Amino acid sequence: MTFVTHLESTADGSRLPAGQLHQVHGGRPLLVRYDLEAVGRSVSRSEVLARPADMWRWHELLPLRDQAHRVSLGETETPLLDCPRLAAHFGVRRLRVKDESRLPGGSFKARGMAMAVSLANELGVRRVACPTAGNAGGALAAYAARAGMECFVFMPDDTPAVNRYECVLHGAHAFLVDGLIHDCGRIVRENQEAMGWFDMSTLREPYRIEGKKTMGLELAAQCGFSLPDAILYPTGGGTGLIGMWKAFAELDALGWLDSPKKPQMFSCQSTGCDPISRAFDQGLDHGVELEAPHTAASGIRVPKALGDFLVLAAVRESGGRAMAAPEDRLTEWMQLAMRLEGVALCPESAACLGVLEQALQAGHLAPDGDYVVFNTGAVQKYVEVMQCELPRAPAAGLDPAAFPTR
Ligand SMILES: *Cc1c(COP(=O)(O)O)cnc(C)c1O
Repeated sequence: MTFVTHLESTADGSRLPAGQLHQVHGGRPLLVRYDLEAVGRSVSRSEVLARPADMWRWHELLPLRDQAHRVSLGETETPLLDCPRLAAHFGVRRLRVKDESRLPGGSFKARGMAMAVSLANELGVRRVACPTAGNAGGALAAYAARAGMECFVFMPDDTPAVNRYECVLHGAHAFLVDGLIHDCGRIVRENQEAMGWFDMSTLREPYRIEGKKTMGLELAAQCGFSLPDAILYPTGGGTGLIGMWKAFAELDALGWLDSPKKPQMFSCQSTGCDPISRAFDQGLDHGVELEAPHTAASGIRVPKALGDFLVLAAVRESGGRAMAAPEDRLTEWMQLAMRLEGVALCPESAACLGVLEQALQAGHLAPDGDYVVFNTGAVQKYVEVMQCELPRAPAAGLDPAAFPTR
């Protein structure tokens, strides 16, 4: 049972049938559309909330036909953590972190891959492939292993060590590429026919975005169906931001939002790789293509995203902005959240704190607002970024005068 009516092309609005394998149409992503009136007749908000707290509680708003085909590692609801010390540091009324780091594999990529691999499983796929710059490869490898599928992953040479190892350990055929993520994507496409795999690349496959949409559904429920003033989200391929914006539209159409006000969506990047914020500043509809992007926030090192125009449209429609935080301060914001709140903020999400600081200074965000930052991954996956020196404990014991009580 599914409420999916069709897949809609973002190139020209044409309708494609559900229940079969699709990639892009006219070179652009496909969006899944539902009979929301029928969803509303079949289930209520409170019935959804009475179910176990995981992403599958929203199954009427998800594309899987038969729940027996579900491929899951336990995609639990993630906590929305109030961060008063961090709020005080930035001088804002309320700041919360939605902590996606505790999803399977330590990143929110689990939501997208759980959904996409479940659909691939339902549609008879036995071999999958994807390019990755960070967490996507490990997530696909894990869900493919869970489904008993074969998995091929291609990643740039300088992909963080943990991301390389997790693919191998989950049994994927993982390869390094002398290039960037779009070079890896090209390898996946060029070998698709000969190798017989299904391309699970961001937005070339229509269901990862539906999985990531559950971030927005979940956030709405956790906020009592009255959304925050702004969401700050680290944007790479953009599925999370597009997915959440889609979630809010669907909740609105269902009449499930108590307040019609939607959050301002802030797309956050690092100055090391900022194609979407540059496009926003220049008033462009599509991202600019960068030559040699470099950022420690590997998950947002996407020089040209297929869905950049959808991110820009959502950001503008919401009254938000696309901004970039200085690359050389990412570790500073990362440590700030870790030290002040105990939240293991990944470098991608550190960019969101940088954007928060800049947006407050520029008057794009007001101090009396209620803001949510997404922590999309666990900092523990970034050993290269975390490195620091520890002093040796003195043999003679510690000098109390050096450690006055705070
Ligand atoms: C992939 C990734 C992102 C970017 O996600 P999109 O929704 O594709 O923009 C951000 N943070 C982390 C940790 C990631 O792995």
